Amino acid sequence: MAARKLPQVVIIGRPNVGKSTLFNRLVGKRVALVDDQPGVTRDRRFGDAELLGLKFQLVDTAGWEDDEPESLPGRMRAQTEVSLKGADVALFVIDSRADLTPLDREIARWLRQQDVPVVLVANKAEGSSGDAGIMEAYALGFGEPVAVSAEHGEGVADLFQALRPLLEKDEDGWAEPDEPKGDDEPDANAPLSLAIVGRPNAGKSTLINRLLGEDRLLTGPEAGITRDSISVDWEWTHPKSGEVRPMKLVDTAGMRKKAKVQDKLERLSVADARHAIDYAEVVVLLLDATRGLEVQDLKIANLVLEEGRALIVAINKWDVAENPSGLFNGIRAALDEGLAQLKGVTVVAVSALTGKGLDQMLSAAFEVREAWSRRVPTAALNRWFDHALETNPPPAPGGRRIKLRYITQSNTRPPRFVIFGTRLDDLPSSYERYLLNSIRSDLGFGAVPVRLTLKSPKNPFDKG
Ligand code: GDP
Ligand code: GDP
Repeated sequence: MAARKLPQVVIIGRPNVGKSTLFNRLVGKRVALVDDQPGVTRDRRFGDAELLGLKFQLVDTAGWEDDEPESLPGRMRAQTEVSLKGADVALFVIDSRADLTPLDREIARWLRQQDVPVVLVANKAEGSSGDAGIMEAYALGFGEPVAVSAEHGEGVADLFQALRPLLEKDEDGWAEPDEPKGDDEPDANAPLSLAIVGRPNAGKSTLINRLLGEDRLLTGPEAGITRDSISVDWEWTHPKSGEVRPMKLVDTAGMRKKAKVQDKLERLSVADARHAIDYAEVVVLLLDATRGLEVQDLKIANLVLEEGRALIVAINKWDVAENPSGLFNGIRAALDEGLAQLKGVTVVAVSALTGKGLDQMLSAAFEVREAWSRRVPTAALNRWFDHALETNPPPAPGGRRIKLRYITQSNTRPPRFVIFGTRLDDLPSSYERYLLNSIRSDLGFGAVPVRLTLKSPKNPFDKG
């Protein structure tokens, strides 16, 4: 296993931008070693990272916190020079919520002189909080920054897209013909990364074993499944078309030895969900038909959507459900009421024991991934925009109308839209919600988490 040398990716950036958080996120070790205390010198840390199947060695450079500001450039150069040796890619991390600092610019200047390809990572970009910084970041000259939230796991797929062309020479299975940069439409035949989450006893292990067709997960490390493995490759044959679809089943509690998850059950189910969600495109939240919907389930659903993943709800143990149609409608209604973002989420009834509904569940997973990855054609988007503004024009506080000028889809997986306009500070949040809900319902995104940002069209390269 360890014979082949992994490509090396080095994380670089000034203190506090979230380098360690990103390292932990990608290396996925539960023992997180983020050190919030300034004055602690850290060594470089190495870890084997896996990002949606892309494997590399990650190096976290740190330890400048204790330096005098004057000595930073010098220290930085020394540290970074060492770690850049032999690196295939540098991840240059900035804090998208803060203005660029002189040190950011100094690092950028230095990095531009090096031979290593640089991916600019705008961290702390959860929600829309980081947009100002992201615009400014273009000016650093590394092209479009990849907006991520290391803390919340957002942007993982984008980071994958940015890294893959730079690393794929070393990897098997992921090499594809060169994609034009910025074209993030995924290959519909790419393996679908699926995670199954849910409360203890919902039936996750039973389901996973059923899907894999072997009772191999709970019986220890064998057949290539090691303790550290993060996903299992597997193929699903579509029952109607007979097509064989590759899938990846992402690490969940059910894939580990039962004994390990018996203690601290409730806490762990959320922690495990978080871990699995990082690596998944689609997450199945498994409910227990004999228990209905509980608060814990809503918490997990919320987490999935916050982290920008596509969600499906599967009600398990359907074989023993009492009053099935009443139960189904009850859960459907409770989901809609429990969480606004869950409106329209796909709900399927399954039995891990008998196998009922599982093909339907997997078909739904492919469908929801398609929506999650979809780029709305510009013409259709503009048509929707005009119609939405006509149906319900933006308000005119103080007699001056708020102008919304145009819309663009800046990203997919999850879909992200930016609307440019003026006097946006005066736009009520209810109007923003109206726009977001209309995008979701009118453009067919259902419960796929859609992000919407409002921006004033300032050119970051304009001198003020
Ligand atoms: P480093 O000094 O660059 O290694 O930064 P750390 O990883 O230690 O993070 C610095 C601080 O930023 C910590 O308090 C983190 O919790 C916080 N942080 C890291 N990533 C994010 C993020 O994506 N969003 C937010 N809001 N905070 C983050
Ligand atoms: P996990 O904790 O989520 O991994 O749940 P398990 O897979 O260990 O399942 C918990 C219990 O529910 C076990 O006793 C399973 O046999 C049972 N179970 C799982 N799926 C089904 C199902 O579809 N129908 C019925 N009747 N029981 C199930």
